[in-house]
Amino acid sequence: MHELGITQSILSIALEKANEAQASKITKINLVIGELSGVVDECVQFYFDFLSKDTIAAEASLSFERTPNKLRCRNCDTVFSPDDLDWACPNCHEAKIEIISGRECRIESIEVE
Ligand SMILES: [Zn+2]
Repeated sequence: MHELGITQSILSIALEKANEAQASKITKINLVIGELSGVVDECVQFYFDFLSKDTIAAEASLSFERTPNKLRCRNCDTVFSPDDLDWACPNCHEAKIEIISGRECRIESIEVE
């Protein structure tokens, strides 16, 4: 479970940004989470509700956008999204792949008042 640490950093970044914008309240936080990050939305929401108490983000809603996995074949440079656990290249069938995206976990934007 690494959602607690992730949620802490999400909250502190959001609070910092809101502070910079001199906002009095954070209404929404839009997150982008890669499918490979293993982050569970419900856990982040749970920790967020707990951690954001007594902050201006207490009433903020979280929005999760999932980004699909993207892999690149080291053999022929084909970029593809695997649909299941078969990560072999669809072009040359080599399994020498590199992960391009799918591990990210970041704040896309925040909405404030
Ligand atoms: Zn290939």
